[in-house]
Amino acid sequence: MAETKIPYKIYLSEDDMPKAWYNLRADMKNKPAPLLNPGTGKPLTAEELSPIFCEELVAQELDDTTAYIEIPEEIRNFYKMFRPSPLVRAYCLEEKLGTPAKIYYKFEGNNTSGSHKLNSAIAQAYYAKKQGLKGVTTETGAGQWGTALSMACSYFGLDCKVYMVKVSYEQKPFRREVMRTYGASVVPSPSETTEVGKKILAEFPGTTGSLGCAISEAVEVATKNPGYRYVLGSVLNQVLLHQSVIGLETKTALDKYGIKPDIIIGCAGGGSNLGGLIAPFMGEKLRGEADYRIIAVEPASCPSFTRGTFAYDFCDTGMICPLAKMYTLGSSFIPSANHAGGLRFHGMSSTLSQLYHDGYMEATSVEQTSVFEAAEMFARVEGILPAPESSHAIRAAIDEALKCKETGEEKTIVFGLTGTGYFDLVAYQKFNDGEMSDYIPTDEEIAASVAKLPKVGE
Ligand SMILES: *Cc1c(COP(=O)(O)O)cnc(C)c1O
Repeated sequence: MAETKIPYKIYLSEDDMPKAWYNLRADMKNKPAPLLNPGTGKPLTAEELSPIFCEELVAQELDDTTAYIEIPEEIRNFYKMFRPSPLVRAYCLEEKLGTPAKIYYKFEGNNTSGSHKLNSAIAQAYYAKKQGLKGVTTETGAGQWGTALSMACSYFGLDCKVYMVKVSYEQKPFRREVMRTYGASVVPSPSETTEVGKKILAEFPGTTGSLGCAISEAVEVATKNPGYRYVLGSVLNQVLLHQSVIGLETKTALDKYGIKPDIIIGCAGGGSNLGGLIAPFMGEKLRGEADYRIIAVEPASCPSFTRGTFAYDFCDTGMICPLAKMYTLGSSFIPSANHAGGLRFHGMSSTLSQLYHDGYMEATSVEQTSVFEAAEMFARVEGILPAPESSHAIRAAIDEALKCKETGEEKTIVFGLTGTGYFDLVAYQKFNDGEMSDYIPTDEEIAASVAKLPKVGE
């Protein structure tokens, strides 16, 4: 039978878009461990979570059994502005590499926020609006999540307060201005506007902040202001659920041409894009219907999966957030400066952590310079300027394709291209000038922060 020629881009129609999110947890035999109350060490109830998160999102967070959750029509209509996103056959990259492997990537950078984060931002803003709230608070590091959330909030007419890690606030003024243009207020963190911010500033004057510290501030503001809730752009089960649109569309596009992937690759910061991309494939794997190699790629400077410990830990530095059981480097771990800001989180999604622990997926870590080498090669042949985070997945996909070149195997590789790198040009400048460094934490550094893990749930 003659092989059908696969187009460069496999586009879907609006009718092919998923009408329900897929909740991977429903098919897991070992469910992800519950969030714990840091005070009592007991699993958090919906009542305890509702002062922090919207009610509907609390329900999604705690739902380990419903496989499909309907996507409300208002959210589907918003998705239609930038979805379905294309699945691209990387013919030019394959040719450049001289590999028999067939490489595909799902491109999520085709919206103003420049990443997949808008998929969950719009869902979280929708439920906040539906609950009649005034607004939401959040943190942002590199700025992608804050940008996505400010777009979603302006669409639904919600107030949006973003605590932006101070170093990014100062170094990434352009992202800040995008957020302000969409109506968000952006505060450099740590700030004098919260108790926890004042405490951190008193203890560490002149600190340039961290994601964990910005989370503490955003949570405090949400819980102290009536009509506000806190929203988070990754790590949580609800975020992985919303991101399942990535995987569901990918599967529909591949099925259209009868393509079965051998390897699925995604970068992993908090785990949301990877959790979303692999969702339907992992579902098949869990149900014993198919098998895939699934690879999480993380920076060597922040190696939660490959060098972390599977334990309960805080998600924030201020230690006020719930405890999550995950692969973690310890909440006091401060990763060295790395240009993939979205991958600098000390922990990992509990769902992915459990799957990794149970052997359903692999993980690998890559060094920054080799990531930018892959980004440069990709940009030159495929045209898209990738985000540094996404380029971790490109690196791993290229490495797998090169292995196929050695063995002559025609494997099908699918990876997630989560976003574009237009706001990361300082990083590209460092790379182009040959000034990029590859810091890898020592075993002693990791051991020191892991030693401070809270003693619960053991
Ligand atoms: C935030 C971000 C990531 C990492 O977050 P996950 O929750 O692990 O997906 C990856 N790529 C881009 C472009 C991002 O903005």
